[in-house]
Amino acid sequence: MSNYSDDKTTVVLLKQKVKGFVDEREWGKFHNPKNLSTSIAIEASELMELFQWVSENELETLSKDKDHIAKVEAELADVIIYCLSLANTTNIDISKAVINKIERNTIKYPADEFRGIYKKS
Ligand SMILES: [Mg+2]
Repeated sequence: MSNYSDDKTTVVLLKQKVKGFVDEREWGKFHNPKNLSTSIAIEASELMELFQWVSENELETLSKDKDHIAKVEAELADVIIYCLSLANTTNIDISKAVINKIERNTIKYPADEFRGIYKKS
């Protein structure tokens, strides 16, 4: 479908693609932080819906279902597109924000203390 891949595509290119799509349609006036954060949550819900009522045992089978994988890919893309648009609207540098957050989480959740567990015992 396209020649893009994570190892060859920059975040800035994705941000530009989203901005181009929004600008061509003059949708910038709708892409404010309130609408975009709401849209991220709505699209995240659509992603979650694909796993609603799926048991732990069914996850393995579902992970090989091409139709299901395509639906997950589309909903994940929707979430990311709105995230990119929110970053555009708020002038947030995604790479800086993600790396900063991982660094804060590294301090908050020291690997030796949290290896294999998700909360303090
Ligand atoms: Mg969607």
